[in-house]
Amino acid sequence: MSGNSRLPAQEQCPALSAVAVCKRYKNTLRPALDDFSLEVRQGEFFGLLGPNGAGKTTAIAILTGLMPPDSGTVRLMGMGYREKHHQIKQILGLVPQDIGLYDKLTARENLTFFGKLYGIKGKRLTEKIQRNLEFVSLTENAARPVATFSFGMKRRLNLAAGLLNDPQVLVLDEPCVGIDAQSRHLIHEQLRDLNRRGTTILYTTHYMEEAQELCGRLCIMDNGRPVAQGSPVALLRNSGMSTLEELFLHLTGKELRDV
Ligand code: ADP
Repeated sequence: MSGNSRLPAQEQCPALSAVAVCKRYKNTLRPALDDFSLEVRQGEFFGLLGPNGAGKTTAIAILTGLMPPDSGTVRLMGMGYREKHHQIKQILGLVPQDIGLYDKLTARENLTFFGKLYGIKGKRLTEKIQRNLEFVSLTENAARPVATFSFGMKRRLNLAAGLLNDPQVLVLDEPCVGIDAQSRHLIHEQLRDLNRRGTTILYTTHYMEEAQELCGRLCIMDNGRPVAQGSPVALLRNSGMSTLEELFLHLTGKELRDV
C-alpha cells in the first residue's frame, strides 16, 4: 500500500488532473482545448463525452502525456509528465481508439511485444500474458494471427495489451466502438471488475447508455471545454431531463459535427 492510499479521500491527490489546459494544432483557427480543466478522483469510473470534434482525443492524448499542452498543467497521481515520465509509465495504462496490433503476429506474440515495451520479461511476462488472455477470453485463440480475428476480438486484445503493466490508472478511448453485444458485455464486466479492485478508469464514449451504466461521474465537453460535470443521476436531476441523450443534445446542440 502506498503512503498516499492511506490518506483520507479528501487529502488524496486526484488520479488525473488537467488545469487550464490549452491546445491549438498548427494551421487551425480554433483551439482543440480551450481552458480545459478536469479532475478524476482515485478509484473513480469517470466518463468523458462529447460530439465529434469536441476535443476528447486531444484531451486523452494530453492527459496521458502523449502530447504536451501549449499551456496549463497536467498531473497523474500528483506527478508531472516531464519530471516523472518513467514512474508514470509504470502505473498508467492506455487503450487507444486506433487498434495498434500487428496483424501478422499471433495474439500471444502481440502481447509479448507490448509487454517488452513496458520492460516486462521472462516468466513474469509469460504469466501476465496468460492472465490477460484469460481476462479477455482469448486463451483458446492465443496462437492465431490477429489478421484472422473479428473486430471484437481485436478490441479485447487491445484491452489486454493496455493492462499488461497492471495500471493503477487506465484510460480508454472508445473501447467498444463497432463491436457486437457479446464482446461489449465482456469488456464492460471486466472493466467493472478492475474498477471494483481499485483501478481508476477514464473512459470516452459516444454511447450514452454505456456512460450511464458504467460511470460514477462524467464530463460532457464541447468546443474544447467541459459543459457539464457530475454523476449521471445529479446531472439529470439538476437539468430536469429524463435521459443523458436528451441532456447531451440540449447542451451540445443538434447540428451535425462531422459534415
Ligand atoms: P474528438 O476526439 O472529440 O472527436 P479531437 O480531439 O479529435 O476531438 O479534435 C478536436 C479538434 O481538433 C477538432 O476540431 C479537430 O478537427 C482538431 N484536430 C484534431 N487533431 C488535429 C490535428 N492533428 N491537426 C489539426 N487539427 C486537429
